[in-house]
Amino acid sequence: MNVLLITPETYHPSSKVEADVCIIGSGAGGSIAAAKIVKKGYSVVILEKGPYVNQSDFTQRQKEIVPRLYEGSGAQATDDLSMAILQGSVYGGSTTVNWMTSLATPDYVLDQWVNQFKLNEYDLGSMQRHSKEVSERLKVHRVDELSHNPQNLMLLKGSEKLGFHAYTSYNNSVNCIGCGHCGLGCTYNAKQDMRLTYLQDALSQGIEIFTSTKASKIKYKSSSKQVIHAVMTLENDRFITFEVHTEKTIVSASAIATPLLLQKSKLTAGGTVGKHLQLHPVSGVFGIFEDKMYPTSGIPQSVVVDEYLNMDGNGYGFWLETPDLEPFLAGAYYPGMGIERREELKQLNNMGVIITLVRDGANGKSTVSNGEVKWRRGFNLQNGSFSLGLVPSIRYKISKPDLRHLLKGLEVSVKIALASGAKRVLTVHNQKTDIRNTVDAKIVHSLPSGPNQLGMFSAHPTGTSRMGMDTKSSVVDQTCEMHNYPGVFVMDGSIVPTAPGVNPMITILSMVSRAIEIGEW
Ligand SMILES: Cc1cc2nc3c(=O)[nH]c(=O)nc-3n(C[C@H](O)[C@H](O)[C@H](O)COP(=O)(O)OP(=O)(O)OC[C@H]3O[C@@H](n4cnc5c(N)ncnc54)[C@H](O)[C@@H]3O)c2cc1C
Ligand code: SF4
Repeated sequence: MNVLLITPETYHPSSKVEADVCIIGSGAGGSIAAAKIVKKGYSVVILEKGPYVNQSDFTQRQKEIVPRLYEGSGAQATDDLSMAILQGSVYGGSTTVNWMTSLATPDYVLDQWVNQFKLNEYDLGSMQRHSKEVSERLKVHRVDELSHNPQNLMLLKGSEKLGFHAYTSYNNSVNCIGCGHCGLGCTYNAKQDMRLTYLQDALSQGIEIFTSTKASKIKYKSSSKQVIHAVMTLENDRFITFEVHTEKTIVSASAIATPLLLQKSKLTAGGTVGKHLQLHPVSGVFGIFEDKMYPTSGIPQSVVVDEYLNMDGNGYGFWLETPDLEPFLAGAYYPGMGIERREELKQLNNMGVIITLVRDGANGKSTVSNGEVKWRRGFNLQNGSFSLGLVPSIRYKISKPDLRHLLKGLEVSVKIALASGAKRVLTVHNQKTDIRNTVDAKIVHSLPSGPNQLGMFSAHPTGTSRMGMDTKSSVVDQTCEMHNYPGVFVMDGSIVPTAPGVNPMITILSMVSRAIEIGEW
């Protein structure tokens, strides 16, 4: 097979492509699947909806790069707009824009999967082996403590002062210069995302990758025959369509797009495709300092505070990190209105932000579904005009215990920022706060914090085609093959059965790696 990266510029029209395996999506799950399966001698084609990008595309100019790299130009959200959901839609998927934190799945989460979901193949020993392997490939290492930026030092020192457990994190980079713009793609080829690791491995073994090419439907004929309808977008909104004829299909389009594609293809019987959406909901606080903090520079998320990860004694709680505070995110989340807000935002360089990430699901561990992805009737905007049709719908309601954990995280974050010398701390509630002493930190619990009353976002969707042995409450088996559709596999964040409670990239890579090891490939 030819080694080919096919973009709209290099595409030679053909109505039919054939391969043993077609993988839909080139993010974390799709890339490792491609690299491992091609090595076993199969011919593999990847379809990636987003554009091909390389180092020279990462201009760090938000206005041009954010719409190019992010799903929905960075504006994807739940139906009620209460939670933005950030995802990469580009060559390499979300790993191209992610913030590099590389942590293995905690042992108590794996124990839960073995005990509640009977996922015996995903026990601590097996997952540790795969986590080690993928971490080596991604050059995961502990961040040099001398490279913490002021924002991370704030989190570290403030936590130490208050006696909270904090540690220097791990990331996947080589010769990172700490420019601070991981969220815009790495201009220095330092971040070891999928483009530079598993997609390279797959290409060097001989696969075809079609970029700017969306899989619009899977036609399931049998366990060894499926036809995938593909649409490649050309310039000026023109497009061409072709079919991929394949023996096995791997859907790796992410925990939002995968259930939508399976539903559109009517591959839903029996399971719970689209249900059990987990988001690791995030909110944050802005500390305002007299000293310069330069929050847009330096390595993001180099410190983790895990003191409250097991807040309820059942493995649910929250952890704290500091974001890659791109101005487009600060602009979206900084509280307040009008001219006052604009003037305050000019002090961005004096701000330090702490985010609270919640391991969601405390209200029922594994049985309750707090969120769902499906199609609904709505208006589509195409070529400047609206038409009525089906549109993606993301619904999510943070449960009461999860919200309690989130608010506790904000309270603790306020205290940490103040302990590190912040003069004022602002939460991102609609009702503006201006907290200047630790006693007032408790106010976060009494402010209105329902949907659209407290700014929230997620970058970690998982769970919508989860793995399990019970065919009624799960979608795929331990090899990632769909219970009801042999020959179709799901290999991405959708399969993660309960929220991992750490940033999920290593978990997804390790699970897919393990699934391929035990599958019949
Ligand atoms: C801003 C940001 C920061 C993050 N930071 C971290 C971090 O520090 N550490 C960490 O562990 N995790 C982080 N994550 C999360 C992590 O990157 C994701 O969990 C992981 O990449 C998800 O892998 P996936 O395979 O499920 O999907 P993705 O990596 O999202 O890949 C899915 C791909 O499928 C493509 N696709 C979708 N629909 C179709 C279709 N119909 N046809 C063809 N292609 C399609 C998409 O364009 C996309 O490229 C971050 C994410 C974001 C967005
Ligand atoms: S901080 Fe490091 S890894 Fe991130 S974009 Fe800058 S150089 Fe690349």
